[in-house]
Amino acid sequence: MFYKSTRDGGLAVGASEAIVKGLSADGGLFVPHELPRLGEADIMRLCAMTYPERALEILRLFLTDFTDDELKNAVTAAYGDNFDTPEAAPIAHLLTGTYVLELWHGPTCAFKDMALQILPHFLTAAMKRVIPGKKVAILTATSGDTGKAALEGFKDVPGTSIMVFYPEDGVSEMQKRQMTTQEGGNVAVCAVRGNFDDCQNGVKAIFTDRATRSELAARDIVFSSANSMNWGRLCPQIVYYASVYAELVKNKEIEYGEKINIAVPTGNFGNILAAYYAKEMGVPIGKLICASNANNVLTDFIKTGVYDRNRRFVTTNSPSMDILISSNLERLLYHLCGEDDGAVRGWFAELAEKGRYEVDDRVKARLNELFYAGWCNDEDTKKTIGGVFEDYSYLMDTHTAVAYRVLEDYRRATGDGARCVVVSTASPYKFVSAVYEALGGEASPDEFDTASLLEEKTGAGMPRALAETRDKPVRFCDIVAQGEMPGAVMDFLKEIR
Ligand SMILES: *Cc1c(COP(=O)(O)O)cnc(C)c1O
Repeated sequence: MFYKSTRDGGLAVGASEAIVKGLSADGGLFVPHELPRLGEADIMRLCAMTYPERALEILRLFLTDFTDDELKNAVTAAYGDNFDTPEAAPIAHLLTGTYVLELWHGPTCAFKDMALQILPHFLTAAMKRVIPGKKVAILTATSGDTGKAALEGFKDVPGTSIMVFYPEDGVSEMQKRQMTTQEGGNVAVCAVRGNFDDCQNGVKAIFTDRATRSELAARDIVFSSANSMNWGRLCPQIVYYASVYAELVKNKEIEYGEKINIAVPTGNFGNILAAYYAKEMGVPIGKLICASNANNVLTDFIKTGVYDRNRRFVTTNSPSMDILISSNLERLLYHLCGEDDGAVRGWFAELAEKGRYEVDDRVKARLNELFYAGWCNDEDTKKTIGGVFEDYSYLMDTHTAVAYRVLEDYRRATGDGARCVVVSTASPYKFVSAVYEALGGEASPDEFDTASLLEEKTGAGMPRALAETRDKPVRFCDIVAQGEMPGAVMDFLKEIR
C-alpha cells in the first residue's frame, strides 16, 4: 500500500515514510492510494476477536511495510493492559438503538489515547527503516488533552524523548496536575508565560531554527510533533469504528448489513474522518453526524460548502473542540472532489490568503449525502448532561453531550430512527466543574474536591488514573517566557542519552 499527498497525487511513499514525515513536503496530508475493503466475512471474523486482535487485522491492511511482529508488539503495548478495561473501547447502552462508545478508558482518560498509545511504536519501528540510527525528540504545544496523551504514549519508549509546553493559565487544574506529575525518564513538561498561540509559535520557531537543528543532527536526533495530521494517528482510529460494528453484531443488537449512524464531537476532524474511512471501506455505516460547539465553522461548511474562519473564537465548556482550523478536513475534500490535487491546492491557498474558500457543487452534494452537521451551545450542553443523567443514570462529559444533543436534533429534523453510536471522547471527570454544575451542583475552586462531590452525587467512580494525580509528587514546575523555550529544550536534551 502506497500513500500520496492531498496536494500531489503523483507521490508514492510507503507507510513508514508517511509516518516518519508526518506532513508531505508540499504541505499536503498523506492519504492511501486505494482504500482496503472490509466485507461481511471480514467483519464477522472480527466478532470473535479481542480489541488488540481487531486492531492488528485492520492496521495490517494499511501499514503494509511493517512486519507482523512490529504490529503485534505495537497493538499489545498500546491496548494490552494500558486501559482500565480489557475491552479498551466499551459500549454503554442508553436506550434501544442508542449506544455510547467510550473511548476514554486509556491512561489519560480522553480519546487521544486510542491513537497516541500506539503511534510511538509505529514511529520507532518506521524510523528504523527510513532513518536508521536516529532518535526522535517530540516537541508539543498543548492546550490540554493532547500534551498529556503524548506524554503517556512516549513515556519510556526507547529511542524517543518528549517535551510538552502548555500555557501557564490556559489549562484546567486537573490537566495541569496530570502533566506536572508525569512519570518517565524521557519526558519534560514546561509552562509558558502566555497563551496557547505563544506556546505553538515557540515550538514552531524551534522546529525551524537552523542552529538547533544542526546541533541535534550532530547527535542523531530529529524533531517530530506527532500531531493529528500524521497518518499514524488517524489509522488506529478507523479500528474502533470497525470494532464497534462487529461488537454490536456479536451482541445481537444488529444483524450484519443494518446501517448504523455515528455521531462524533468534532474539532480537528480526525475522529469523524476515521468514521468516513470505515464507511468507505465497507463497514455498514449510514449518516455521519458532525457535532460542533459554538465554534461552529464545520456546521456552516457542511451546510453551505463555504469554509470561513473569519469569525470570533469562542471559549466553551467543551474546550477540546475550540478550534477554527480543522486540519484533517483536507483529506475529506481530496476524496470528495475526485482526488483532484489542483482543486485542493487552490482551496488551501485561498484559506491561507483570505481565511475562506468555497468548494464546488459536486463536493457540496457529496457532503450532504454523507454528513449531517449541527452545533450546541454551553447551556444546552449542560442541559443534555443533566437530562441524560436523569433519564438513564448515565454520566457523560461536555464533548459527548454536544454529540448527543446534535443526534437528538438530527432525529427530530429527519425522523431517521436508525440505530446510532454516539462517540464519547472524555471521562466526565476530566471536565468535572462543568459536569457537576450541569447536575445542579456548585463547583468548588479545587477540581479534586468537585470530583469527590460528583462521585457522591452520582455513584460513578472517578477513573483511577485521574484520582492518583492528586497525591503524586509534582516533577515539573518550570515556567519560561516564549523566548526561553529553545534553551529549555536544549537543557532537556542534554540530559537525554
Ligand atoms: C481532541 C478531542 C476532540 C476532537 O477530536 P478531533 O479528532 O480533533 O475532531 C473531541 N473531544 C475530546 C475530549 C478531545 O480531546
